[in-house]
Amino acid sequence: MARTKYIFVVGGVVSSLGKGIISASLAKLLQSRGFSVALQKLDPYINVDPGTLNPYEHGECYVTEDGAETDLDLGHYERFSNVPTSQANNVTTGSVYKTVIEKERKGDYLGHTVQVIPHITDEIKRRIKILGKTGKYDFVITEIGGTVGDIESLPYIETVRQMRWEMGRDCAVIHLTLVPYLAAAGELKTKPTQHSVKTLLESGVQPDIIVCRTERPLYNGLKDKIAKFCNVEPSSVIEARDAETIYEVPLMMREENLDTEILRKTMMPLDNSPDLQKWEEFLYKLKNPSDEVTIGLVGKYVELKDAYKSINESFVHASAANECKVNVKLIHSEHINKKNGAEILKGLNGILVAPGFGERGIEGKIEAIKFARENKIPFLGVCLGMQCAVIEFGRNVIGYKSAHSTEMNLDTKYPVIDLMEEQKKIKGMGGTMRLGKYPCKVKKSTNVYNIYQTLNVSERHRHRYEFNNEYLEEYENAGMTAAGINPNENLVEIMEIKDHPWFIGVQFHPEYKSTVAKPHPLFVDFVRATLENKKNYTV
Ligand code: GLN
Repeated sequence: MARTKYIFVVGGVVSSLGKGIISASLAKLLQSRGFSVALQKLDPYINVDPGTLNPYEHGECYVTEDGAETDLDLGHYERFSNVPTSQANNVTTGSVYKTVIEKERKGDYLGHTVQVIPHITDEIKRRIKILGKTGKYDFVITEIGGTVGDIESLPYIETVRQMRWEMGRDCAVIHLTLVPYLAAAGELKTKPTQHSVKTLLESGVQPDIIVCRTERPLYNGLKDKIAKFCNVEPSSVIEARDAETIYEVPLMMREENLDTEILRKTMMPLDNSPDLQKWEEFLYKLKNPSDEVTIGLVGKYVELKDAYKSINESFVHASAANECKVNVKLIHSEHINKKNGAEILKGLNGILVAPGFGERGIEGKIEAIKFARENKIPFLGVCLGMQCAVIEFGRNVIGYKSAHSTEMNLDTKYPVIDLMEEQKKIKGMGGTMRLGKYPCKVKKSTNVYNIYQTLNVSERHRHRYEFNNEYLEEYENAGMTAAGINPNENLVEIMEIKDHPWFIGVQFHPEYKSTVAKPHPLFVDFVRATLENKKNYTV
């Protein structure tokens, strides 16, 4: 294999322009030409990982196979490229400094002053090259969080400058900027882009390609103007118009030749043409549904659309697979109570109760589950959602009136959800949950077996509490079955109710594994069941 090429994606003007989607789309295009690609995110905050961040701060925390708690952009990388990411694919300033400071304490720099340049930048460089050094990838695409000009991003931009200088054509820089439309002037404005490139130049980085996020087409002459002011070729100015769905962006970038520009800049062969047939089929199904359903997503972070990113995207994948539009209705669990539950939840074809932590909104989640169970509405409980289903069943079916999780009530008489044994000695909060992939043995003659069509599955986890096995017999006698068990530790992974059209709670997070190429079977079948529910619509 030829030397790995390093592509950097840096943002300018404002945040939230979609660097993650542009990076993932480029990866998809290069893959579709037969290249192997890894995607990586560098985050300039000082948390060692985003696991300790509230979703309001940073959206969902995404979990990789190897148990890293990472930025949600890694979810996009996997959903687009279908290649699993790992700890190495997300770097934060906190993790970089941690390594350097630990080395300093060990005496690795004995006699020297430890500085941002070269010690921090060398560590960043090492983290970027880890993926390239595996020899598995033609391209490593590294997205740099934040916006050019941020104080926090400086060491990363300096690292890009050094690598571009050292590696020449083995390296290319994409700058994603905003070209705003000023309604009063009736014009698109290039000045913010010019200023942003100037800021980048002050740090010694000349972008090779400028991707312009815009609401309207860049009219004639505008690309030339940007090219002239920013020292790039006109063909290297790429229009990135707002898209109806993020899954359209790879096709839009193909139209704009983002892939060929990158191949040209990095002296890579241009002979293969991209094969995106499967992607196009997916998009066609997504955009031409023959039916639609409404699913309630009950959670406590509903004000922020990124908080349940992977769940929402899993519904998109399942929607294409079923050729059925899924309207996800976000429902605040704190707004649901015993009196208004039926009013708020009526008309839904399915209910998903979301993952989460802590007491807030718990009783609303339990009410929503009761409603789904009693009215035979398809129900999927994810992690805390499964735990709430267990509590609800304990309270309302078995008769354990005060059943609870010890996360919410330490003194409950019926601790049906309890802290895992291995968690009892742990004091620290960062990276200490049960994280990443674990095997699950599925029981035959269960609904989940019919769905997975296999006895052995592997799913990703992020939790501290588990089903308390002391109660298992009672539950199974009352009709809630442990349909999946971790074979090594005997932990309950899946609970289902037999006497219900579709009622499944999972201790793991299926949403982390759903991709365009491989929609998750649980989500696909859940949407199928909601369609079924619509046909026999009762409440
Ligand atoms: N708070 C629960 C636990 O720690 C559930 C976590 C989750 O939903 N990810 O077990």
